[in-house]
Amino acid sequence: MQHRRPPRALSRLGRLAALAAALLTAAAPAGLAQEPASGSLDIYWIDVEGGAATLVVTPARESVLMDTGWPRADARDALRIQAAMDDAGIDRIDYMLFSHFHGDHVGGLPALAERVPIGRIVDHGDSVELDRPRGRALWDEYIGLAADRRRSVAPGDKLPLERIELTFVASHRELVDTLEPQMPNPLCDGVTPPDPDMGENGHSLAYLLSLGAFQFLNLGDLTPDREHALACPENRLGVVDLWQVPHHGGYGAIRPELAAVLQPTVAVVNNGPRKGGTPDSLAVIQGTAEVGDVWQSHRTLTDDAANNTEEALIANLTEEDDCEGHWIKATVAPDGRSWSMTNGRTGYSRTYQSR
Ligand SMILES: [Zn+2]
Repeated sequence: MQHRRPPRALSRLGRLAALAAALLTAAAPAGLAQEPASGSLDIYWIDVEGGAATLVVTPARESVLMDTGWPRADARDALRIQAAMDDAGIDRIDYMLFSHFHGDHVGGLPALAERVPIGRIVDHGDSVELDRPRGRALWDEYIGLAADRRRSVAPGDKLPLERIELTFVASHRELVDTLEPQMPNPLCDGVTPPDPDMGENGHSLAYLLSLGAFQFLNLGDLTPDREHALACPENRLGVVDLWQVPHHGGYGAIRPELAAVLQPTVAVVNNGPRKGGTPDSLAVIQGTAEVGDVWQSHRTLTDDAANNTEEALIANLTEEDDCEGHWIKATVAPDGRSWSMTNGRTGYSRTYQSR
């Protein structure tokens, strides 16, 4: 074993040289931190056919995945998540978030955990559907994989990420306090609050992510009563640039009094060909004057197809059996001032300015 010379044995010149080297190494990280961030913030809406899997890769290349799609013997959704990870150049999930314990959100975890290293697991608390056989089975499978590294969070908690801020705004039916004071919402007048949903959807975890001026809101499968409470009597969230609409944009999923105050420039509907993206939800989004573009994971093949957004903004056009599972991707500039949305099927993209 090589013996290291103790520092006091250094000559005066040697001590000065060592001090200079220490100052240089100390100065380097501080200097780097003051430079503008070089990496983009990337968000992928991975197509899991009407489930959810939203991957965030930060400018520091930390990764946050919310939800894992469906349970499938062929690991379809895990493989699609891996394809998005490859595109982003990452090989592990640092933070695995679950919005809630339904099969289209937590069902893909076993297949993903077999293929990809997963760090911390974050959830809203214990499942509230343990009295249902399906809810119990999903929970048992989840806790078998997550027990030693899960953490349940409360509204206002943040993930310790570099350069971006990710704040939980809803968890286990609790909501974050008003983020910006004095934002009464005139659209609440005369609106009857929707009935409470005491199931897993109503307990969904939800987060608001910020990079500079850019804000992205992911509400999981949060229900109308919670949306109403986020919007009334005061808007608790302010405006957002990009919004993953709740519950796949299904029937009754989107409350107009919330959509109108969020004023998203872009709304993303993570629907399947025959799940979510319903005419009433699409009409509410498209009828909200402030909403710019609506991007959809799938063309809706049920009901009135006329409600679909323009084809260039739809990632998948076919039935599930023929589907290649293309993603929608947002690429946010390192300073957060603008971002592009890209259609994984065609490569078509559109750029937007943050407010
Ligand atoms: Zn769902």
